[in-house]
Amino acid sequence: MKKYKQRLLKKIREQIDRWYGYQHAVEQDEVIRFLHSLAGTAPTIGMEQVGKAAAAQLLLAEKRKRDTWRLPELQNLLFPLISACYEAEMDIEEETVPNREKRISSGDELILLIDDDITLLMYLKEELELHGFTAAIFTDSDRAMKAYYDLAPDCVVIDRHMKQENGFEVVVQLKELMQKKYVPAIMISADASRETRLDSYRNGADDFILKPFDMEEFLVRIRRQIERKKQLEELIVVDELTKVYNRKFLNPAYTRLAARMKREGSFFTLAMLDLDYFKKINDTYGHLEGDEVLREFSQCLRDNLRNSDTVIRYGGEEFIILLPNAGQKEAMEVIGRIKESFSAHVFKRPDHTSYSCTFSAGLMAVPPEQAMSVEHAIECADAALYQAKENGRNAIAVYRSTVTEPVEKVLNVAVVDDDPIIRTILEDVFRKSPLLDQYCLNIGLYPDGMEFLEAHPLSNRENHFIVLDGMMPKMDGTEVLQKIRALPNQHLFTVMMLTSRKSGRDAARALQLGADDYMTKPFRLEELETRLYHLAKRMTK
Ligand code: GH3
Ligand code: MG
Ligand code: MG
Repeated sequence: MKKYKQRLLKKIREQIDRWYGYQHAVEQDEVIRFLHSLAGTAPTIGMEQVGKAAAAQLLLAEKRKRDTWRLPELQNLLFPLISACYEAEMDIEEETVPNREKRISSGDELILLIDDDITLLMYLKEELELHGFTAAIFTDSDRAMKAYYDLAPDCVVIDRHMKQENGFEVVVQLKELMQKKYVPAIMISADASRETRLDSYRNGADDFILKPFDMEEFLVRIRRQIERKKQLEELIVVDELTKVYNRKFLNPAYTRLAARMKREGSFFTLAMLDLDYFKKINDTYGHLEGDEVLREFSQCLRDNLRNSDTVIRYGGEEFIILLPNAGQKEAMEVIGRIKESFSAHVFKRPDHTSYSCTFSAGLMAVPPEQAMSVEHAIECADAALYQAKENGRNAIAVYRSTVTEPVEKVLNVAVVDDDPIIRTILEDVFRKSPLLDQYCLNIGLYPDGMEFLEAHPLSNRENHFIVLDGMMPKMDGTEVLQKIRALPNQHLFTVMMLTSRKSGRDAARALQLGADDYMTKPFRLEELETRLYHLAKRMTK
């Protein structure tokens, strides 16, 4: 049966390809004939859903009075059918690889894997994902470190012996970052010597696992570390790095304050502060220096505020300040003072150079008579902050209801795959994706690498998210990937490679060439969604 199913799917693909490639409209007769034949054949060979979809779309098509189809209409008509084909293909795969049934859709817990042994990296990733984790993999610890803050992993697994010249040093640095967030670090090593083990623990490893290891034990140990992290997090309301409150403290503090201000009939202000061009500091001087700036900033906040004010580290370099008994004018004064003080601070480098840093702020003054949720207050302060950034940064803006909504950023998405089913399905995933909350998506579908290179806006300064098929007839994925990584703005490109099960080497090669992630075809759509979500967080903002 499998053979017939695959043959039918191939026939469907070919037909769709032909239609989508036409420069002219498609004849109604042709569409009816195709759907009719599918509605009959598909259920006969065990593809009920495909048959049902074909029959339903056939009914729709027959009702139509015109005798030709323009491409977008035809794509709409065929979508449910293509969806069913995709599912059917997954089912065929599951019949062949029973192991995949075990697969729980990838979970929320994110493990960062850093190892320069690509084979092991891939194996660990597959195993972790088979057991409900999501894995982000890095062959290069520098890149891992850059992505670390944005990914906020739950656990990091590092090979103790990275072969790069600064391997261990980077590991130590990374650990230093992690301790500030209670992220457990597991070191793995093939070296059983007492010295190596001790050294790993000395450098802050929470666990040490010897290679080769028992997979089941590895998973248990990871899970246990994550559980401990969660228990710890429950208890902590202070941010370890900056010693101000963390985000968990915001809701209770806000609620209490709002109630009190209502009783007292007094204004209070929620201020949102965000460091300007903070990314540049990280990129120029490294993340540890960035941390130093955050610490200094928090210190400056504490020095200039009253005891009754509450400082919360809301996100990476975003802080919220609650100012009781302060309307617009008072809040403006307080934050203005902090602004002067902080921008005057000179950060000195060991090489005797120096730099300084500024922040922008948005203020929302909440009147006592107006019950306003914390979410809403933040939204307003955030809109004002956006305005301050727009006004050139190092600025403070107050929320006014006329403040215009922020303009959305553009994300250029490209799906490069010769299979029309994959292209259609992926486009749909993107159209429904939560990425839309942050970006205005500009989606391009390309059947081949060559067409992608010709038509995609490669040189613009926006972010690009590329899903790249490893195997394509004219120019295959790895070649395209190499071309992308040679672009001057290549850091704006996030690339996910689609590889085939048969060739494990494709994935390894893709990673070597700088792919950010890979997925083996065929894949569950939920899995793809989770991956997209995590990869998107890694994108340069
Ligand atoms: P803008 O002026 O528009 O705010 O630009 P920006 O560069 O400050 O803003 P963006 O949001 O693009 O970058 C913030 C960076 O802060 C990204 C992230 O890697 C980094 N970051 C987040 N948390 C930490 C942290 O705890 N330590 C360090 N060193 N960096 C962090
Ligand atoms: Mg910033
Ligand atoms: Mg920011």
